[in-house]
Formats: sequence, structure tokens, C-alpha cells
Amino acid sequence: MIGKLTSPSTIKYIMAKYDFKFSIGLGQNFLINEQVVQSIVNGAEISEEDYILEVGPGIGVMTYEMASRAKQVVAVEIDSFLLPVLEETLASFDNVKVINNDILKIDLESIISEEFNNHPPKVVANLPYYITTPIVMKLLEDELPISDIVVMVQKEVADRMMAGPNTKAYGALSVAVQYYSDPEIITVVPKSSFMPQPNVSSSVIRLKIRPSSVDLISKDIFFKTVKDAFSKRRKTLLNALSSGIMQISKDNLKTIFDETGIDPGRRGETLSIEEFALLSNAIAKRSR
Ligand code: SAM
Repeated sequence: MIGKLTSPSTIKYIMAKYDFKFSIGLGQNFLINEQVVQSIVNGAEISEEDYILEVGPGIGVMTYEMASRAKQVVAVEIDSFLLPVLEETLASFDNVKVINNDILKIDLESIISEEFNNHPPKVVANLPYYITTPIVMKLLEDELPISDIVVMVQKEVADRMMAGPNTKAYGALSVAVQYYSDPEIITVVPKSSFMPQPNVSSSVIRLKIRPSSVDLISKDIFFKTVKDAFSKRRKTLLNALSSGIMQISKDNLKTIFDETGIDPGRRGETLSIEEFALLSNAIAKRSR
């Protein structure tokens, strides 16, 4: 009989029974703090109507709690050694499916249509730290029908997602996250809430997906502008954009800055999302 999944003795018991060893390479830091599990699940406001997509269930500590509250849970776990464990820990539920795959490779659109019958799921996860940003960016950029993303990430990454102009944490990730969603920190989580303990603190962040707040001529040029503007943080916008991936000539840039009224001597980190939209629309107009 398996005990409480947040208990270190249960985890040790499971490790011995299934000859399981933590893979640091797969970002396996399992939650051992019941209050944190509750605050993630409460933060996602899961009801009986909800469809949940979980990334990396581990031994199923959050999956268990979500399966008891949601309509259906699909959990994608890359580590096949965890499959027999999950079979045991989630045996009492008939609304959970575990898929053994890599979240970055799996076709999420098919999962949403086949498993959830096209109901927009909430993505809820204690993310593996080594690929936090690629996972969040994939979920956002693919513009999948997802209503919310509620995830545990490194505190510093959550701070970057929340940051506004003129702060050190503000960068391409802040703009991308805020282009697609309204981010909100739910709670900060100490290292001691995990086994094994990571080196850094974590935060649970909720991204409420919504239509973008700015009108763009080209999303591609918008994100290229953002990328160039932040790639050399100390450079002025004029220098960053003329030497970046878009290779815009200084003559062209002068017209573009005149048209937008944005000072070319500013740095990228001072621009709001609205100003990035204005600038990238002027660039897009000239590249047609
Ligand atoms: N949800 C569990 C918990 O809170 O205790 C485990 C969280 S642990 C931080 C991250 C989980 O993601 C691990 O189970 C790990 O094996 C899994 N994982 C790592 N890389 C993955 C990937 N590319 N696709 C799917 N799962 C992955």
C-alpha cells in the first residue's frame, strides 16, 4: 500500500520497489510539500468541467489531486521508468491517461482534439527546469486552444515573465509571455519543498491566455524586432536593429524611427509592448 505521495518516505519506498533513480538530467525534482500541491491546483481553479494537460507527472503527486477534481487528465511523461509507478499511484482513477512521450515532440493539437474532444484544456505542471522556456514558448507560440497555463518554474524565470520595461528582468521572454497572456504569480516556493532539492527557489505562475492586446502587420517581424532589440542589451535600438537578424540599413531605420516617433538612441529594454508593435509595424510596412 502506497502512502501519501508528498511524503519522502513514500518516495523512498517507491524508489526501492521499482528500482527507480532520480534523473537530474530530466529535471526530476519531486514535490514533497502538500501545501504547494494544493496551491498549484487551487491556483488553476480546477472544477469538474475541466480538462487538464499535465507535463511530467513524476510519481503522480499533482496528477492524483487533479484527477480527483477534474473531468479528465492527460499527463505526458518522458521517463518510461515512471510508467509502472503511475499505474499504481493512479490506479483508482478512470479519468487519467498517461502518455509516454517528450512534450516538445508530441503533437498537442491531436491530443486536444482526440483526448479532449477539442475542449480547451488547462496546462498544469511542475515543469522540468532544463526546458521550462521551450515548453512555455511552444504552448504559447503554437496558439493551441489552451485557456490557462499554471506552472512551477524557477523563481527567476517567473520574474522575467512578469517583468515590465526598464527593469533588469525585462526581455524577450517577458514580451512573448505578455503578448499571449496575462501572467500572475501565485506563490513563491522554497527549495525545501522538493526531493531532491534544487539549487534555486521556484514560483508558481499562472498565464491566462487571451487575444493579443496589440495589432500587428507581421507577428514574425514583431518577434524578430524584439529579439534584435534585446540581443545586445547595451546597444541603442539603431545599432541593435541595423546589426541584427533583419539587417535593416541605417537609412531605412532613420525613416522608420521618424515615422514612429521612437528615439533611435533608446535601448530595447525601455520599450513597452505597444512601442514594439509600433516599431515592428513600421518595419513591416517598409519590407513589403
Ligand atoms: N509532477 C511531479 C512533481 O511535481 O513531483 C514531477 C515534476 S519534475 C520537476 C518534472 C517531470 O517532468 C519529471 O517527471 C520528468 O521525468 C518529466 N520530464 C522531463 N522532461 C520531459 C519532457 N521533455 N517531456 C515530458 N516530461 C518530461
